[in-house]
Amino acid sequence: LAGKNRYHVFDTIQDRCQRGRHESLARIRRGLEAGEFVLLYQPKVNMRTGLLNGLEALIRWHHPEQGELEPASFLPVLEDHPLSVALGEWVIESALERMGRWKRDGFDVPVSVNISARHLQSPDFMARLQSMLMAHPELGPGSLELEVLETSALESMSQVSRIVEECAGIGVSFALDDFGTGYSSLAYLKRLPAARLKVDQLFVRNMLEDPDDLAILEAILGLAHAFRREVIAEGVESVRHGKLLLQLGCELGQGYGISRPLAGDAVPLWAAAWSLPVAWRDRHPVEHD
Ligand code: C2E
Ligand code: MG
Ligand code: MG
Ligand code: MG
Repeated sequence: LAGKNRYHVFDTIQDRCQRGRHESLARIRRGLEAGEFVLLYQPKVNMRTGLLNGLEALIRWHHPEQGELEPASFLPVLEDHPLSVALGEWVIESALERMGRWKRDGFDVPVSVNISARHLQSPDFMARLQSMLMAHPELGPGSLELEVLETSALESMSQVSRIVEECAGIGVSFALDDFGTGYSSLAYLKRLPAARLKVDQLFVRNMLEDPDDLAILEAILGLAHAFRREVIAEGVESVRHGKLLLQLGCELGQGYGISRPLAGDAVPLWAAAWSLPVAWRDRHPVEHD
């Protein structure tokens, strides 16, 4: 077979990929218009005091044919596409609207929202964010936090750190998400004024078995404290995780061992019923959980 045919095959596959992506994007756009996306909210707690610290909004797609889809199955196709800005704005608006409803019911808790790099770098990001916040005057400063992946923050440091500073001026704080997966260094943390570091769940999950991951976690905690940044551990799946994190000086946690992501309506009830697991309160750790 000649080279000509090989080119032909290659083009066909590429065309098919392009068409596939085009169709996926159109489907997401229609889903957005049809109200098929929802936000779940996962609690973040102080594992020492038991107080609810905040909630993280996590998107789900109620796909008419495929059922509930997790973000990993539809966010990658949006990467670098302008539609990710529209979806990101829907997420912020939905979270603000939900917070407004909760507040009217006497439930007042900060919410963090995940922001894609593409959205954060869109030219009118600050103006759009401000007008979305202005539509909710009932929410005070400090109600909204934005989570940006450490890896995306690294790729466009100066732009991201400028936005972090501008957001601080309007009462919106930042967290560096999946922290520890990028090239964590003292020099760049100094330039990124994000208030919080969310340690990637990989380190938390493995710290019980792998001394190297435990060492990374301890180094991140030391670094964060030196820079007066708050640390929150993701992937707190059990009492053993919670206890070890407390011993290491990490008080904030999020994970299935505390709560799975919840429907918005279920959150106030969960918050009223939740209390610290007895084993976390023990001053002298016991042998068995
Ligand atoms: P993330 O921001 O790091 O969110 C934490 C992810 O870990 C969530 O997955 C959550 O359900 C899961 N998780 C929480 N606790 C545990 C645990 O104890 N064990 C395990 N194994 N997993 C746990 P989810 O909801 O599938 O989201 C995955 C990622 O998709 C998020 O990671 C975030 O980067 C992205 N994402 C989610 N919602 C949005 C959104 O509205 N906008 C954007 N741009 N990205 C989003
Ligand atoms: Mg996050
Ligand atoms: Mg994360
Ligand atoms: Mg993640």
